[in-house]
Amino acid sequence: MTPEPQLLLHNEWWPVSGQPLIISGPCSAETEHQVLETARLLAATGKVRVFRSGVWKPRTRPGGFEGMGEKALPWLKKVKEQTGLLTTVEVASPGHIEQALSYNVDILWIGARTVVNPFSMEELAQALQGVDIPVLVKNPLTPDLKLWMGALERINKAGIAKIAAIHRGFHYFQKSPYRNAPMWEIPIELKRLVPSLPIITDISHICGRRDILQEIAQKAIDLETNGLMIESHIDPDNAKTDSAQQITPTELDLLLSGLVFRVPTGSPIFEHLLEKLRTEIDKIDGELLQLLARRMDIVDEIGRYKLENNITILQLKRWKHIIDDRVSIGSYLGLDDKFLIQLLELVHEASIRRQQQIFSSEGQVAPKADI
Ligand code: PEP
Ligand code: MN
Repeated sequence: MTPEPQLLLHNEWWPVSGQPLIISGPCSAETEHQVLETARLLAATGKVRVFRSGVWKPRTRPGGFEGMGEKALPWLKKVKEQTGLLTTVEVASPGHIEQALSYNVDILWIGARTVVNPFSMEELAQALQGVDIPVLVKNPLTPDLKLWMGALERINKAGIAKIAAIHRGFHYFQKSPYRNAPMWEIPIELKRLVPSLPIITDISHICGRRDILQEIAQKAIDLETNGLMIESHIDPDNAKTDSAQQITPTELDLLLSGLVFRVPTGSPIFEHLLEKLRTEIDKIDGELLQLLARRMDIVDEIGRYKLENNITILQLKRWKHIIDDRVSIGSYLGLDDKFLIQLLELVHEASIRRQQQIFSSEGQVAPKADI
């Protein structure tokens, strides 16, 4: 059994009290004007305390915009001087840490692609020895709480006590309304293990699109998140990275104003357990739907094959085999026979309808079933 993480935290650095910390700014620093103008508008909302901006951008494939690098760091210094906002950048190597510190960046954050690799985390931890700066640790890309905790522990062991975690969702579903599935049960479990660790929800990288940001921000607030990270850009449609998920500072202001802050009901552990179980159900339903959609794709492929080879849609022998096989597996798993037969019949009827549509879209009458 892995021992629970023992983090030695100092939380007096937290820049707001009694309300979620709002971190906002562009996915990437692109030009001095874009950075300063975004920061000016964000500061004017009076709701944002920390300005974020990627300077070194991890890209899936080479050749894309990889960030402005060190050239952008003086822009962040100007943000601080001109707006009073604190600044944060993503660091992925000891060199990045050194450069960020030399331009007085206030807070460092470590991205999901770095957290996934313990070697990289160890290198960053070494580089942070003796440095007094808050560090935000995003969750790794994969839904692995231990890996996330390991990264937090490595940073903490290096002597960094001003730490927060950032929940940015996980690579999981093949198709999903989210860019990264939130899997709320994972940050909830982290909070249960280390209650004094602040957790910030990065709704932009969870959603990957603007239209569901509000709903996910509300969900995070309802779960008593300690902060929100939201990407914003003066011209989101023309942003060089993550354009589909960025919003303007004005839209950000509206989003924040639309949030409902509820008074906690007084039994958070119970609520969290219930929430944990509910998110588990949401996840399972999501998986069921993914599987059903995949099953239907295959049903369509079979339909096209039957059409080309003039085979009847309903194959009674095959259907009987499916019922017998699934009911026997289902009984073994403790599922009720009657429920299973009803469910299989529904799925089967829907499959037949899809195949009939394939035949009729080709102007063909489906060959009569061989009953
Ligand atoms: C980002 O915040 O711009 C970023 C690259 O995030 P993540 O590491 O969560 O993908
Ligand atoms: Mn981004």
